Amino acid sequence: MRKICFALLTISMLLSNTAVSMAHPGRTDANGGHTCRTNCAKWGLADGEYHYHNAAGTIKPAESTAETPDPAKETDDDSSDATLVADKIKVASKGKLSVYFLNIGQGDATYIRTAAGDDILIDAGKNEAGDVVVDYLKQLRVDDIEIMISTHPDADHVGGLDTVLRNFKVENVYAPKVSHTTDTFKDFLLAVKQEGLKIKEAKAGVLLPLKGVTARFVGPVAAYGDDLNDWSAVLHLTYGINKFLFTGDAEKRSETDMLAGKLALKADVLKAGHHGSVSSTSPAFLKAVAPKYAVISVGKNSYGHPAATILNRLKAAKASVYRTDLNGTVTAVSDGKKISFLKVK
Ligand SMILES: [Zn+2]
Ligand SMILES: [Zn+2]
Repeated sequence: MRKICFALLTISMLLSNTAVSMAHPGRTDANGGHTCRTNCAKWGLADGEYHYHNAAGTIKPAESTAETPDPAKETDDDSSDATLVADKIKVASKGKLSVYFLNIGQGDATYIRTAAGDDILIDAGKNEAGDVVVDYLKQLRVDDIEIMISTHPDADHVGGLDTVLRNFKVENVYAPKVSHTTDTFKDFLLAVKQEGLKIKEAKAGVLLPLKGVTARFVGPVAAYGDDLNDWSAVLHLTYGINKFLFTGDAEKRSETDMLAGKLALKADVLKAGHHGSVSSTSPAFLKAVAPKYAVISVGKNSYGHPAATILNRLKAAKASVYRTDLNGTVTAVSDGKKISFLKVK
């Protein structure tokens, strides 16, 4: 049985994370928390556990309450101070791997911060989502971006990347070797050039230069002509025993090639391909990935995303589904052993 852990972080709890004087020995760091070194059991902590204090006692971030997710009931009301919340999330996820499936409408934009502090951005939604992504990254105090990945040239993925490039120092840009004639894609290429960068090829087997995680492209395996979706850069990321698979818009043909290539596809969290379209998440692929959680990045659209067939298929596979259109930005935090989904109001 899969026990689903859903960490509910309410504003009040986030606000109560404010550091006060230390309740027991240990060094409080710049984020107001610290690692337990002595008499940890006495404080209800494991040896070496990172935590915070307030007047009410010890707070263990992201693991305080657990309940079964009910995505349908968890629409965001956006009533809070987003900057403050983003700040507090960063504190709660300090020293962990955090993955944010940003709520940018129809499209994909995924931001990953590794425990070592490296920043990875996969896509940035449509043109008009660029500013939203930049704002979000600024709220999360992103300084620079070590790895930017453009999964493929479609506008709902590459659209905002030029805005991100103009706002942040980006060290590496990866994209599959496929081009497109749209102005949106040209804007991206121009922005990369203006930053003095050269695109590195994203293809199966390429390992990203990151510490503390193993991040490797498992797709594209082959060339796909005009089928831009199948060209999608697909990233498999491992932190401790936790695994994530970011599929872009890869469709069945690419999925079949990844399976045939015997690539490492198993993952706890699957970003369902192509916004939950029937074109992706084929039964064989889903079986190989065997996710506990599936995230669908989707907004208002006329394509019928996500498809009922795929939602049913994920349900049958016992994957808990999170959707950016219903849940807002979906945030997964891993300590290398366990993954928690944070609820941010
Ligand atoms: Zn797309
Ligand atoms: Zn696409």
